[in-house]
Amino acid sequence: MAKKSASDTKHPLKRFSDEQPASYKEPAPFEHKGADANGHENPLHSMMQRFDKAAEILQLDPGIYKYLSTPVKCVIVSIPITMEDGSIEVFEGYRVIHNDILGPSKGGIRYSPDVNLDEIKALAAWMTWKCAVIDIPFGGAKGGVRCDPRKLTQRQLESITRRYTANMLDVFGPDRDIPAPDVNTNEQVMAWILDTYSMHMKRTEPGVVTGKPLVLGGSRGRREATGRGVMHSTLCGLSKLGIAPNKATVAVEGFGNVGSISAASLYEKGAKIVAISDVTGGYYNAKGIDIDAAIKWSDEHDHLLEGFAGGEKISTDELLTVKCDVLIPAAREDRITDHNAAKVQAKLIVEGANGPTNAGADSILESMGVMVIPDILANAGGVKVSYFEWVQNRMGYYWDLETVNKRLEDAMVLAFDRVYENSLKHGVSLRLSSYILAIDKVARTLKLRGIYG
Ligand code: GLU
Repeated sequence: MAKKSASDTKHPLKRFSDEQPASYKEPAPFEHKGADANGHENPLHSMMQRFDKAAEILQLDPGIYKYLSTPVKCVIVSIPITMEDGSIEVFEGYRVIHNDILGPSKGGIRYSPDVNLDEIKALAAWMTWKCAVIDIPFGGAKGGVRCDPRKLTQRQLESITRRYTANMLDVFGPDRDIPAPDVNTNEQVMAWILDTYSMHMKRTEPGVVTGKPLVLGGSRGRREATGRGVMHSTLCGLSKLGIAPNKATVAVEGFGNVGSISAASLYEKGAKIVAISDVTGGYYNAKGIDIDAAIKWSDEHDHLLEGFAGGEKISTDELLTVKCDVLIPAAREDRITDHNAAKVQAKLIVEGANGPTNAGADSILESMGVMVIPDILANAGGVKVSYFEWVQNRMGYYWDLETVNKRLEDAMVLAFDRVYENSLKHGVSLRLSSYILAIDKVARTLKLRGIYG
């Protein structure tokens, strides 16, 4: 049999020589393409299209444009793990610091089979804008590991998390870069990060992550914060549209942490949740879905809605276009696109997920008069309470749930009002208004700090 050489395309060494030649430079200004072969828009492209529009309105200095469209740092690491049968598997992990002008960088870590560098770069930039909009002294970052957590054992997940953290010891830190949960990561994953980091530092360092278990210095209300923030944003939007919460019908895409809490807290306010969905499909009931029953079902069935009898089965695509007042996409990027935006029947879209609407859909929804509360405002409750958690860690003094929830509500309402007023001032959508406020704040701070070097 012929011996394989490094020039074979399948040779494991080949990918390193191909993908990272000596001249490979990271970070570089954001380069982004439109859609991929499957028609999925590159989230970086979506982010940059909005950034460009806001930059034009702000008449951003070309140098500052260049600065803000270039990530500060992109780190790619390999994560070798010994599997249960003794074989070795190597996963790829990422952390992108988009910007640290306002303070230490902040953002979640996601575990998913389709994680890639462009997605993480876009998500990191969205964190910069989100932290600026919700008014916290943090920059933006995002991390991810390309893996399928549903196919991994708990031990493998722990090993991946610890090795990823060990590889990121120079990046993470309570005053440098602070991770948090995101898609497919949770309090347990944050506890492993805290422990690994603390072991290396030789002291317990609770402020290195947020979204931790309470007993390790987590904040009351952090787990529900993103969903509750989505609820507050929805109430703000409904009041501008003159719709009473108890008269509103709502469809929620995604039934993970954000989707289920958004649905439950709006249900509590009297809204009728007519459709919900997760990876197993959509469930529609014009009379309203019993959300407590749906949560119970999902909790008892491996966090899946499959088999839930409280609604007629529809597809996840159909959910986006059902008749309702409010649509809450709380699953993944690129769900409302130029292909299906015209079919949306909701009057209000509240983005629980990051990047669920692509840039092409923006103008279609705008021309239809649909109010869109953008991700960087609507789901900013999560990172706001992450900030509260970090503050509590530094004080060593912990607030009660009422205090956390009240401060979250005040912050969400204040941010919405600011974005709304600014949208009237510039005659632009709430999305563009949020970008304008965020970019302007970061750009002004950058001017004050100046460029070192
Ligand atoms: N992953 C969440 C987000 O996208 C939270 C980030 C954080 O708390 O740092 O906003």
